[in-house]
Amino acid sequence: MLSNIHTHSTFTDGKSTPEEIVISAIKKGFISIGFSEHSYGPHCTYGIKDTEAYIAEIKRLKEKYKNEIEVYLGLEEDMFYFCDRSKFEYIIGSCHYFRKDNAYFPIDSSLETMEKVLNDLYNFDVITLANDYYSTFCDYILKRKPDVIGHFDLITKFDENDSPLFFNNEEYLKLSEKYLLEALKADCIFEVNTGAISRGYRTTPYPYENLLYLLKKEGGKITLTSDSHHHDTLDCNFKESSKMLKDIGFTHTYVLHNNEFIKAQI
Ligand SMILES: [Zn+2]
Ligand SMILES: [Zn+2]
Repeated sequence: MLSNIHTHSTFTDGKSTPEEIVISAIKKGFISIGFSEHSYGPHCTYGIKDTEAYIAEIKRLKEKYKNEIEVYLGLEEDMFYFCDRSKFEYIIGSCHYFRKDNAYFPIDSSLETMEKVLNDLYNFDVITLANDYYSTFCDYILKRKPDVIGHFDLITKFDENDSPLFFNNEEYLKLSEKYLLEALKADCIFEVNTGAISRGYRTTPYPYENLLYLLKKEGGKITLTSDSHHHDTLDCNFKESSKMLKDIGFTHTYVLHNNEFIKAQI
């Protein structure tokens, strides 16, 4: 059952229009497609400017293509600025920034920015940085209970290189697992997000494998998403990631169908 609920379009930093995306999803045989533009926030440079126009366009497409595909209106909410949740059919809750003394620093823009943040704000202490990130994010998750938790370990985006900050650090791996157990209390769906693969940063999805094994062990709910910014990448790496999830022991993911998240066999 093909579906993707993490999709960006020209309303924010995506390259394709919503209609191009819907048509592509139909061609790929999707049962549903969910749009999740970046929410508006004063701190967020790529947040949506015209939320009402976005809502109107997705509703138009939902009606126009209702006999071919289910179209859903979602939003990727940045945790530092709450949206009006009643306007959307679901929200993905994500953390894209470090916040220190009311200044915001992007987590996922580049390795250079990450290293600068690590150096300037954390004196190169990876564990304190990770602890800050996960504790802030988990507070939000438990309070807000978004339908879906976006790229839980985004801070590892640039870690597939010769000198990883996190993946070879036992203390970090244990810390991320502690916070995963904390986030699980909110009973949200975790996304297994292939977005960094389509953009060439990673060969595996978020979250990292230690967290996926723990999610499986704890009975956590997952949905496979592409965090797509182009109509060609709606199902990027879905085959490979599905196989990986199966190998880990998952038997199903959650997809949006008939206005609810239902279990679909992998
Ligand atoms: Zn995101
Ligand atoms: Zn996204």
